[in-house]
Amino acid sequence: MTPGRPVPPPLAKPLPDLDTAANTDASTTAGSAAQTAGPTLAAAYGATAPDSGLVPLTVSRRAPKADDVEIAIEFCGLCHSDVHATRGEWGGDTYPLIPGHEIVGRVSRLGSDVDDFTIGERVGVGCMVDSCRECDSCLDGLEQYCEKALVGTYGAKDARNDGAITQGGYATSIVVDRNYVLRVPETLDPAAVAPLLCAGITTYSPLNHFEVEEGDVVGVVGLGGLGHMAVKIAKAMGAKVKVFTTSENKFAAARELGADDVILSTDPAAMEAANRSIDVIIDTVAASHDLNPYFRTLRLDGALFQLGLPEDAMPPVNPGALIRRRIAYAGSLIGGIAETQEMLDFCAEHGVVSDVEVVGADQLNEAYDRMVAGDVKYRFVLDVSTLGSPAEKADA
Ligand code: NAP
Ligand code: ZN
Ligand code: ZN
Repeated sequence: MTPGRPVPPPLAKPLPDLDTAANTDASTTAGSAAQTAGPTLAAAYGATAPDSGLVPLTVSRRAPKADDVEIAIEFCGLCHSDVHATRGEWGGDTYPLIPGHEIVGRVSRLGSDVDDFTIGERVGVGCMVDSCRECDSCLDGLEQYCEKALVGTYGAKDARNDGAITQGGYATSIVVDRNYVLRVPETLDPAAVAPLLCAGITTYSPLNHFEVEEGDVVGVVGLGGLGHMAVKIAKAMGAKVKVFTTSENKFAAARELGADDVILSTDPAAMEAANRSIDVIIDTVAASHDLNPYFRTLRLDGALFQLGLPEDAMPPVNPGALIRRRIAYAGSLIGGIAETQEMLDFCAEHGVVSDVEVVGADQLNEAYDRMVAGDVKYRFVLDVSTLGSPAEKADA
């Protein structure tokens, strides 16, 4: 991958000299014939350093191997994890880094052994593109907890592909092993469905694990990308939902999303009034914060799932708050591939999608700043068709 130029149109022609195999018309050919075409260049946006912001980049995508699916990306959600990663807030990031793991697009080429996807089919890719496939977690369909070799969609070493560093979905195409590709229901709006690939599954999985059902009370802390999906999915599961927010101006919007109750988490009296009223809390806050006030809102045998991964350490948890009500304090990481498909199908059945603000490539940096400031309802989604033009201007 190289910063800057050249940025070809979506699914550019195969690179010369990189593959001696004959080129094939990708738009019409499937199976073994398509496999003979070479790597392609994709237009992309990413960071070249923690303080670079997002700039135009070009990424080479491998030619589909036997089990690969090449996807012409239409939309990619902007997750707060993308901000943490591109700005180096978690440390250990490698640059250039093309973020994006809420990917929706259409199949454009297929490897020779892929017979269960078709060219043109709408598909998605979430937060992982491979795992070891043989550890207990992988064999249990919990690939996200792979004990040996989880390969994230960006910034990860891809052992099965020469150790290349993966690059994400702020790009016009991606090539992914079919085992990590999801089917996206055609009935759902493609821009609004993109955030389900991370925000949706990350909140669905703990709710599913806790076996939330009709009549349960679910607390959602933080009304951002993950939080608003937690509200919608918990409501679709039949739960009552209480939203905890630091933003007084989100009260009406929270109710519009379906919240039965909204609590200003900075108001001690309001927090006290919620004492012992909740079965399970989904905490999605992207910054360090004190969890102890939330434990007091849980009932006996309640659970708090922490999903946010803040840059700074969290204040200590008071063991007494857990012990006195047999409360479980847990974490949860996205969801497995089968569970992600289950979530997409659940959302199609219940008409659940994300509330999105679609942005062009030249708005990405502003969108990141607005996300950090909490100024988005509730997920920015990149319209990938805009990727080529800013770079062309920059090159002029
Ligand atoms: P987001 O859209 O920015 O939402 C985060 C929300 O946290 C904000 O809308 C805000 O809600 C609340 N918040 C309260 N105080 C805050 C502060 N000081 N700074 C920032 N936010 C504050 O983020 P997201 O995309 O939903 O992601 C949330 C977190 O989950 C991130 O840390 C992300 O990396 C992590 N994540 C984890 C997983 C996983 O698998 N566990 C997957 C994806 C993302 P109010 O205004 O309502 O208070
Ligand atoms: Zn994410
Ligand atoms: Zn594994």
